[in-house]
Amino acid sequence: MVALIRETAELCQRRSKESHAIGFVPTMGNLHAGHASLLERALAEHTVVYFSIFVNPKQFGPSEDYGRYPRTLEQDLSVIRDCAARFPSSQVVVFAPTDPTEVFPPGDTQTIAVSGLSTILEGKSRPGHFEGVATVVYKLFNLVRPSTAYFGLKDYQQYLVISQMVKDLCLPVKIQGMPIIRETSGLALSSRNQYLSPDQRAASLVLSQTLRELTDLIGGSRDRISKARLLISDFLKDPNWNYLELRDAQTLAEDVDRSTHITILAVYQLGSTRLLDNVQVEVS
Ligand code: AMP
Repeated sequence: MVALIRETAELCQRRSKESHAIGFVPTMGNLHAGHASLLERALAEHTVVYFSIFVNPKQFGPSEDYGRYPRTLEQDLSVIRDCAARFPSSQVVVFAPTDPTEVFPPGDTQTIAVSGLSTILEGKSRPGHFEGVATVVYKLFNLVRPSTAYFGLKDYQQYLVISQMVKDLCLPVKIQGMPIIRETSGLALSSRNQYLSPDQRAASLVLSQTLRELTDLIGGSRDRISKARLLISDFLKDPNWNYLELRDAQTLAEDVDRSTHITILAVYQLGSTRLLDNVQVEVS
């Protein structure tokens, strides 16, 4: 069963009556199979799942795509209903606020900032982005009070920021990271892929191919990381890379000499569309 709630007051009222542990999937909507994989896992683990659809103005910079971000509620509800139909004894409560003021009433003053992690890589390219993300997720956690919240590793730095926020603020929620869902071409699914022209779509394959090539080169061996770094500096001659960086997977530190898990994080930009991807590599 799928219920739709459009106002925060109604959400609070409904939540106050729940007796089950809640699974939670926060999204900005325009759902694809990546989002559906989060919902499926949440439904496999909970009788009641809350699913938010909210294009959060606080995580967009002034020149970013907040205005044109695809808002497709009817289509999203049908993705959710299809998924929920496979779990007939579960309930999905969709929270899709009618207006940003439902979440951020005028005059609100609070911002959550996770220092360090929020100002590097994606945070450096998009100042204020992770403050906007952490603030909305914190607020949604307060409203939904989930036991487990599901986040895609596609947004790996976001997953680390949220995990750190939960730890720092002793929030009683488990953060479950979920694998990246890709097209057969390797391109990670994203609501922003639809901005790509056919030529840009073909060019976008460089992103996942490069991450795969670097993973294969490292082949699980820490000794090959220096070779990978050389190759990265060569790749970076292509100006479409916003960044392509090899970091410690837990801390995102540049020094990976003692790391057992590394991550390669990248943004490849085609026109005004920034395509974000990463891979995780175990090394010894
Ligand atoms: P968004 O609506 O883009 O903010 O994403 C909502 C959630 O879905 C986030 O936790 C994302 O990391 C996750 N997500 C987006 N794309 C994918 C994907 N291709 N595979 C897995 N999770 C994803």
